[in-house]
Amino acid sequence: KEGLTRTRQNLVDKVEALVTGRTKIDDELYDELEEALISADVGAETSIELVERLRRKVKEQKISDPSLLQGLLQEEIAAILGGEAIPVNLGNQPTVILIVGVNGVGKTTTIAKLAHRWKQEGRKVLLAAGDTFRAAAIDQLEIWGQRVGVEVIRHQEGADPSAVAFDAVQAAKSRESDVLIIDTAGRLHNKSHLMNELSKINRVLDRAMPGAPHETLLVLDATTGQNALSQARIFGEAVGLTGLVLTKLDGTAKGGVILAIHSELQTPVKFIGIGEKMDDLRDFDPGEFAKALFG
Ligand code: GDP
Repeated sequence: KEGLTRTRQNLVDKVEALVTGRTKIDDELYDELEEALISADVGAETSIELVERLRRKVKEQKISDPSLLQGLLQEEIAAILGGEAIPVNLGNQPTVILIVGVNGVGKTTTIAKLAHRWKQEGRKVLLAAGDTFRAAAIDQLEIWGQRVGVEVIRHQEGADPSAVAFDAVQAAKSRESDVLIIDTAGRLHNKSHLMNELSKINRVLDRAMPGAPHETLLVLDATTGQNALSQARIFGEAVGLTGLVLTKLDGTAKGGVILAIHSELQTPVKFIGIGEKMDDLRDFDPGEFAKALFG
């Protein structure tokens, strides 16, 4: 429920306003519903799909009372989100997790939050400063590492990120770390550059530890709405993603974008960020999310 207030206002309150005072369910109501969903960043395709699903349900169940639409919509939203929560698999030692995403989306903060959570659970966590392009990114990760109380493997600015990744796996093995989280550069010059860099890191990781990385998580900023969706498309084509992290859900009304991302990419959202502090990370549970959305 936390962090969803504005999204709820933007999406659910609009739907509620639409259906109250109506006496029948007609095309006009469906059109307005579709517009309300699109304006809540659900995305055009997904909004159309949702309204189609509603139409079908209304017909099947011979519903005529507009006030029942909200409950139906909640069910359909849960269905689009896929029902089950899909946790990160931490079954390897070390479990190697690659974090990708463009600058500013909250990658470093997310890495710190994950490190904090897993350390709290009693796991030994190691971080790797794979964004060697910016000295500030290396320093920032180091600062978070100190705050959380986990070590950071770092090279000089300008070093080869895949060399950092390789060293980090060796270090994680010799220190018997449970989880290794690797940061990557967030420049998005063009897709082939991104693809080359990430596939090199992947090759090197697999050489250092066959099967690694075990998870590749894309971090997206919810406040960017449809931009987050296009980033998800680009990264999804460049690298095999196993999950998404949607940050900054607190204070944004654009949380509906989670639906667009889910229905288009079929990559599960695994975590959501709801603030700037270490504790402000939650597992993403589709059913809970749909329920929380409808208050
Ligand atoms: P990076 O460039 O992707 O590594 O982004 P950072 O981790 O440095 O985060 C960029 C900004 O977003 C910082 O000011 C963070 O405090 C902020 N931020 C990250 N996650 C969240 C979140 O879930 N909620 C809020 N409100 N701010 C966040």
